[in-house]
Amino acid sequence: MANGEKNVWQMTQERLDKTMDMLGLKPGIQKYLREPKRIIEVTIRVQMDNGEIDVFKGYRVQHNADRGPTKGGLRFSENVTLDDVKALSALMTLKTAVVNVPFGGAKGGVRVNPKKLSLRELETLSRQFILELSPNIGVDTDIPAPDVGTNPQIMAWMTDAYSIQQGHFEPGILTGKPIELGGSQGRDEATSAGVVFTVLSALKELNIRKNNLDVVIQGYGNAGYNCARILNDLGFNIIAVSDSGGAIYNKNGLDPQKVLEHKNKTCSVINYSESENIAPEKLLELECDILIPAALENQIDENNASRIKAQIISEAANAPVTPEADEILDENNILVIPDMLANAGGVTVSYFEWVQCCQSYYWTYNEVKSKLKQVMERSFKEVYKLHKDKNVNMRTAASLLALGRVADVVSLKTTRSFCY
Ligand code: NAD
Repeated sequence: MANGEKNVWQMTQERLDKTMDMLGLKPGIQKYLREPKRIIEVTIRVQMDNGEIDVFKGYRVQHNADRGPTKGGLRFSENVTLDDVKALSALMTLKTAVVNVPFGGAKGGVRVNPKKLSLRELETLSRQFILELSPNIGVDTDIPAPDVGTNPQIMAWMTDAYSIQQGHFEPGILTGKPIELGGSQGRDEATSAGVVFTVLSALKELNIRKNNLDVVIQGYGNAGYNCARILNDLGFNIIAVSDSGGAIYNKNGLDPQKVLEHKNKTCSVINYSESENIAPEKLLELECDILIPAALENQIDENNASRIKAQIISEAANAPVTPEADEILDENNILVIPDMLANAGGVTVSYFEWVQCCQSYYWTYNEVKSKLKQVMERSFKEVYKLHKDKNVNMRTAASLLALGRVADVVSLKTTRSFCY
C-alpha cells in the first residue's frame, strides 16, 4: 500500500479533518462530515454464458446529501474496494459544492473486469446491479453516472431496467446516457471543456498571453483527447501526449485528430509518423506552459515534482498529484488547478442533463456550453480569490470553499440560538 500504509479513505479523512480544522467547524459537524451518510453493499447474481451462476460484489456510498440528491459515477473494475468508493464519494461531495450545483456526493462500483465478460453478461450485470441499488436510489435521492469501465450504453441498459421496475420511463435516474435516451448535448466533452475553461481563467489571472503556448497532456482517452482537440482549436500548441503504450513529442505541435486516428488504428499514440517517441516518464518533465494530467492518480510525486517545468497544471484526472508533490509545486510557484475544480465540468453537465430530463425540455449544444462556461468561470474566480485572500494553494482554497458550503447548510439544519 502506497503512502506509508495509509489507505485512500484514511488519507481522505485526514484531508477533510485538516480543512475542517482550518474552517473552525464545531466538533459535531466535523464528526458528521468525515463519515459517509449511507453505505450499500450488494451481491449480484449473473448467469454466465456457460450456464453457471457467478457472483459479483457491488457498492454504492452516499457521502453527503445535505445540499441535494447524491451524485457520482459507477465504476466497473477489478480493483474496486469499499474504501476507494468511500474516498471517491467524499471527493464528489466537494466537487458538487465547489461548482455550487445542488447535489451531494456519491460513488459506486462493481468488482469486475468488464473486458472479461461477453456483451450479454455485461448487460445482465449492469441491469442486476441497478436493480439491487434501486431501493436506495431515485431521481430525487441518488443519481448515478458513468465512470471508469462504464459508458453511455451501460447507462442505457440501467435506465431501461430501472424504468421497467418503476413502470414508467425515468430518464432522470442516471446521467451520461446516449442523447436518444435523454442524454445532454455536450456531455462527451464536458470534462475537457471545463478543464479548458479553468486554464483560460488561470492565464487571465496570471496575465499570460494565449499566443503559442505549449501544452503537454498525459493520457489520450476521453478527457485527454478532448482537451487536446479543444486547446488546439483555440491556437495552443500540443507538443506531447501519451497513453498506456508510451509517449510522443513534436516541438512544432501535434494534430490531435490525426493522432486519434493513428491511435484508433494501432491501439496507441506511439509511432505516430509526425512525432518522435519519448520515454513516458520524461513527458511530465518537458519544458511547456500548461501540463494536463488526464490518466491516473499519483503521477506527480515527491520524486519528479521538482523537475516539472509547466507554469500551470490543470488536473483532468482525479488525484494525479500527491500531497508531498503539492508542497514542492507550491515552492516552485506552479499554479495547480485541483481536480475537484478542474474536472468538475463533467458533473456540471450531468446536473444539466438531470435538469433537462426532469423538465422534459432539452437544450442545444450552444446553450449547454455557455451555461458550463458561466459555472466554470465563476467557480474558478471564487477559488482563486480565496487562494489569494487566505494565502493558501488552490487545492486548499477549493476544499475550504466546498466544505464551508456543506457545513453552512448542515449548520442551518441544526438548532442554534438566534435573535428575533
Ligand atoms: P479513459 O479510460 O478514456 O482514458 C484514460 C487514458 O489514460 C487512456 O488513453 C490510457 O491509455 C491512458 N493511460 C493509462 N495509463 C497510463 C499511463 N501509465 N501513462 C499515460 N497514460 C495512461 O479515461 P478518461 O475518462 O479520459 O479519464 C481519465 C482521468 O480523468 C481519470 O482519472 C478519470 O477519473 C478522470 N475524469 C474523467 C472524467 C470524464 O468525464 N471522462 C470526469 C472526471 C474525471
